[in-house]
Amino acid sequence: MGTLRLRSPIVAALHDRSFWLQDTGADAITTPLEGTVHAEVAIVGGGFTGLWTALRIKEQAPGTRVVILEADVCGSGASGRNGGQAHSWFAELDLLSAVVGVDEARRLCADTADAIADLERLQRSGAIDMDLRLDGWLWTASAKAQEGAWDRAVAMTEAVEPGRFRSLSVDEIERRTGSRVSYIGVVEEKAGTVHPAKLALGLRQLALARGVIIHERSPVLDIAPGRSCALRTARGEVHAEKVVLAANAWLSALSELRRYLYVVGSQVIATAPVPDLLDRIGWRDGASICDSQAQVLYYQRTPQGRVIFGRGSGELAYGAEIGAGFNRSPQHSSGNIRELYRVYPSLRDVKAEYDWMGPIDCTPEHIPVFDHLRDHPNIFFGIGFNGTGIAQTPVGGRILASLVLERDDRWSRSGLVGLARRTTLPPEPFRYLGGKLVRAAIRRRNAAEIRNRETDPLTRYISTLTPKRRG
Ligand SMILES: Cc1cc2nc3c(=O)[nH]c(=O)nc-3n(C[C@H](O)[C@H](O)[C@H](O)COP(=O)(O)OP(=O)(O)OC[C@H]3O[C@@H](n4cnc5c(N)ncnc54)[C@H](O)[C@@H]3O)c2cc1C
Repeated sequence: MGTLRLRSPIVAALHDRSFWLQDTGADAITTPLEGTVHAEVAIVGGGFTGLWTALRIKEQAPGTRVVILEADVCGSGASGRNGGQAHSWFAELDLLSAVVGVDEARRLCADTADAIADLERLQRSGAIDMDLRLDGWLWTASAKAQEGAWDRAVAMTEAVEPGRFRSLSVDEIERRTGSRVSYIGVVEEKAGTVHPAKLALGLRQLALARGVIIHERSPVLDIAPGRSCALRTARGEVHAEKVVLAANAWLSALSELRRYLYVVGSQVIATAPVPDLLDRIGWRDGASICDSQAQVLYYQRTPQGRVIFGRGSGELAYGAEIGAGFNRSPQHSSGNIRELYRVYPSLRDVKAEYDWMGPIDCTPEHIPVFDHLRDHPNIFFGIGFNGTGIAQTPVGGRILASLVLERDDRWSRSGLVGLARRTTLPPEPFRYLGGKLVRAAIRRRNAAEIRNRETDPLTRYISTLTPKRRG
């Protein structure tokens, strides 16, 4: 059986890391792998997915020897770079239903609502201080073309959980966000924001306390599959009966998965702290806010009064090439800063002190998928969180744990399990060229629509060749 070759992420220089990672001084606290060790389960990747999977395995089978191999520092991937918006899957109920059917989709949405409640328990009990603030998630429109983007998901949610979303008036949006640029929308009140790096580092601590062995700065170079798989790093090897690939966008290195996965960058900035100014305009709490443009804007105010402002405007990766531009790309931050000043003209003199990028693992359905590799029934994976992972990866962790532990339960039988049923993407270079064309059309259409202008029919058509993405 052929060796599976992985690609190590390009480790970001300290000053190129996200505000969140710099704010926590995130660093490795575990030693790199040296020599040969044995495990029942080896997990590649110490982000939310890998850490939650390890914790779920330990919940169900505490005696299992679980080893996590993380290329850099736990949380250094998307988990420590994201927008910190914690909201349930109800906003994707329509997309989920298309993949798993309405009944399971409803249950999965409820699971993510439970995951938010679990985060609240972790915060309250003092187990993880993640700055969780459940002040609502506002899904808004700032232009005519965006109005009603939520209609389908909200109508479907209303049938199962009346009142989960509530309509917002322009006055309420202004009162809660300090801006009238978004003027219509809905709110999910049982949602909000976290400090994602604090969450990731807290999960690392919890996993260590439960007996999970973690080796940071240990990129897995390749895996020799077999009854016992050998995961090779620069100076060591883990021999494991089961493997979980939780390396997010970097799993595009595997051709079997790349057929179902494309990677795009999302760009985020953090302003200087301006708590008094934000208080004055009325933006006081920890709500998470997004609009409905194709290059979605997502933003929050930190407890210290910084504005975190993200935008799904980054580049498409060619094949598995996730270059240094996916860590930081000042070229993309300028567009983001312009958008910040459009939404908040009163912040025009406030500097963006940090800017960074992160790779988003996208599937055509915009919903994750779990399974084992076709020829390797003991190597499992979870990919495709599509920019929505804070409340979703705890659910993914349950699915992966049940697959690994060979449980026959609702998680292992989930409709999210099964790669073969998903849509494949064209091979390179067609995928990249086609994707570039579509993203360029989206950019043009987006620029016109946020000014309430029409786009030409061709641009409009090309821009619809991919579904919308949040995050
Ligand atoms: C810019 C951005 C904004 C986002 N905003 C939000 C948001 O506001 N709300 C929300 O819910 N979700 C958001 N998301 C999505 C969310 O962050 C992800 O879905 C989630 O973090 C995925 O977790 P993960 O563990 O699968 O991936 P990651 O956190 O990326 O973890 C994968 C880990 O694998 C490691 N790795 C890779 N290759 C190897 C190897 N060969 N050997 C060992 N280790 C390896 C990496 O170093 C990394 O730490 C956003 C994502 C991005 C990028």
